[in-house]
Amino acid sequence: MTTTYDYDAIVVGAGAGGLFTAARLARRGYRTLVVERLDKVGGRASTTEIDGFKVNDGAIVIEVGGITEQTCAEVGAKFEIREPSPPILYRIAGKDVDVTGGGWGLLLGKLTRQGAKLVKGIGAARSDSGLPEDELSTADWVRKYTKNEGVHGIFRNMCASVFAVSSDELPARVFLTYFTRKSAFKRFGFHPDGTVGLWNSLADAFAVNGGDLWLTAQVSAINVVDGAVTGITVDHAGETTTVTAPVVVSNVGPYSTLDLAGRESFPAEYVSLVEQRNRPCAMITVNFASQEPLIDAPGMLSFAKTRRLAYIANYTDVCPEMAPDGWHLYTGTAVPEPAIGDFDEAAETELLMADLRDTIDGFDRRSRILSTTITRDGWPPQRAVAGFDLPHTTEVTGLWNVGDAVKEYANGGTTACAETAALVVDEIALEFTPVTA
Ligand SMILES: Cc1cc2nc3c(=O)[nH]c(=O)nc-3n(C[C@H](O)[C@H](O)[C@H](O)COP(=O)(O)OP(=O)(O)OC[C@H]3O[C@@H](n4cnc5c(N)ncnc54)[C@H](O)[C@@H]3O)c2cc1C
Repeated sequence: MTTTYDYDAIVVGAGAGGLFTAARLARRGYRTLVVERLDKVGGRASTTEIDGFKVNDGAIVIEVGGITEQTCAEVGAKFEIREPSPPILYRIAGKDVDVTGGGWGLLLGKLTRQGAKLVKGIGAARSDSGLPEDELSTADWVRKYTKNEGVHGIFRNMCASVFAVSSDELPARVFLTYFTRKSAFKRFGFHPDGTVGLWNSLADAFAVNGGDLWLTAQVSAINVVDGAVTGITVDHAGETTTVTAPVVVSNVGPYSTLDLAGRESFPAEYVSLVEQRNRPCAMITVNFASQEPLIDAPGMLSFAKTRRLAYIANYTDVCPEMAPDGWHLYTGTAVPEPAIGDFDEAAETELLMADLRDTIDGFDRRSRILSTTITRDGWPPQRAVAGFDLPHTTEVTGLWNVGDAVKEYANGGTTACAETAALVVDEIALEFTPVTA
């Protein structure tokens, strides 16, 4: 008996993970439907317009020259990310230093005489035997080499920028794997429409390849019969509809996927692993604008000595379109302590504000704050701490997860979403043939 499905594949959620997956599926000839509960694409990497400023809801920088750009090329999506040059400056002892091309040696050498030893330790991590055991935190690994506060500050702010946790919360093994074996955001930039511009491009390519996108469409169930997905139930355009497909890719995180598909659909050990690893991180961001430049860095400015401020992004040097004429747009980001678990929102936000005032002369007088956002719990900067991710596969036939809770080991953010999407689509192709193929 053959079953006729409405679609070959359904993707639940139009975040980074969902759109990378959907664009690849459509390109390969799968009749694909994306359903998104919000009225725009991009999820935690989208953008909101505030008084003519394009303010990012989450993701600030997009990696250039890696899997994200490669995915766009493969699916026919425009990749209009503009790279600042130099990409990042580090404020060390009051000076903004460019270490482009000099690597770890130049950066650490500016902070401590122990720099060479640390660089050697990082180099040793290129071989598996040089990687520390899982239990050692990044901060403890650095402590083996130096007590220098500036070095600890740099490592803390790198962990915060890439992984949205502090160096006490990130395994050194993850940090070192990322910086010795992954593309590690060496090149990055901003989208002139705000980060949502990238997701709009992917959604356009998806549509050109025959994909359907439903916005303002909330999925209430992923339907499973006899251990295999059969589709979804979705509230859309005032109706509750059942849409069928033999493949469902969930972008809502494995924890919410349990709710949608029903815990009884999964083995008990998997359910308890998902519940145990449901430990999202947190981040605080201040979006601010000014009519005069507030920092010299054309991209990002990071710090050796701050309480919480991990970096300031300066969008408008390379993307003036993100602000009304004559205005500059910035984001200051911080990871609270602790980043996993509960924290005092008011006190942590005040520490970030104190850093901004210390960093920028006359901050209160010269800048206009557009929004202050705390991302945590159900809408976090990362759904899983790197190193503690869940598998993207499930034991339900036809059901996969994508997104930043199912990252490959030691990866982060939208890059990790692109990487997992590529793997998931390859696995789908091995098991399911599109009807039209
Ligand atoms: C402040 C901040 C700064 C960051 N900075 C960076 C950065 O500079 N660079 C970087 O690469 N990454 C950054 N990140 C991380 C990056 O934003 C995330 O890793 C990425 O956006 C996660 O995408 P996702 O696809 O996993 O999930 P999501 O973006 O959460 O997508 C899931 C989608 O599913 C939808 N959905 C949920 N439930 C349902 C349902 N029942 N029915 C239909 N739809 C549903 C949601 O609305 C959402 O759109 C940052 C994050 C934050 C918060």
